[in-house]
Amino acid sequence: MSRSSVLVVFCVLLSCGAARYDFFAFVTRWTGTACLSTRANEPPPLHDVPKNVAAFSIHGAWPTNYDGTWPSFCNNSYPFKWNEIQDLKSLLDVQWPSMTGPNPDFYKHEWEKHGTCSLDVLPNEHSYFSASAKTNSNTGFAACLSRAGIKPSQTQPVSLTTLSNTLSNCVGKKVAVGCLSVRGQLHFNQVTLCLDRNFKAINCPSTTMSTAAKSCSSSSQALVVPIPQSCYNSAEGTIPISA
Ligand code: AMP
Repeated sequence: MSRSSVLVVFCVLLSCGAARYDFFAFVTRWTGTACLSTRANEPPPLHDVPKNVAAFSIHGAWPTNYDGTWPSFCNNSYPFKWNEIQDLKSLLDVQWPSMTGPNPDFYKHEWEKHGTCSLDVLPNEHSYFSASAKTNSNTGFAACLSRAGIKPSQTQPVSLTTLSNTLSNCVGKKVAVGCLSVRGQLHFNQVTLCLDRNFKAINCPSTTMSTAAKSCSSSSQALVVPIPQSCYNSAEGTIPISA
């Protein structure tokens, strides 16, 4: 048998290039906090979000293991190509905006680091980005918050238990609520929705729950801020932060 046929047989048996992972951590950011924190911490030039940006915007769909480890950069023979997903641009602008550099730079990072690890389920860029954008637009977390009477505020914090229960009830599965301290104040930062390999919601495992809980550092409440005006037009200048 030639060397290359040995390699083919070996690869068929061992699924060469396929990463091991148990589920997707589908991480969506509270856009208000994601934007506020970049305005507070990152040097200009920053990237503005569109007026109709989603209240929860995608960070990434991350193949992850129950033990808390995750594969990354799994296939460097499939580099990011913007032209493969250009037809999704208007959807991604709203559902998956970058707060810092140009959107395609953000997509390149997420694709090469995470997307290349789930080629067995989402076999190309188009399926990875469109499945993610559709999942986010269908999830309805923002509507669930507003039905529960949770309104964005720069001053009135919200109970993290209420937030977590509301978002979990919204999808009928346990989701993981994460926080971030911005200028010394704890902010609701992101929610992780855990998805099986068919992109169906499952309860997040304890590893995902405890990492998220740590980010909230045993606090009972956090601010759920509105999107600062400067996130729509950083050229207009000042950051309207009350804290
Ligand atoms: P990224 O945008 O992919 O570079 O990830 C942003 C942050 O999330 C980094 O701090 C990573 O360490 C963390 N992260 C990335 N992938 C995962 C994952 N599958 N599970 C948990 N955390 C992750």
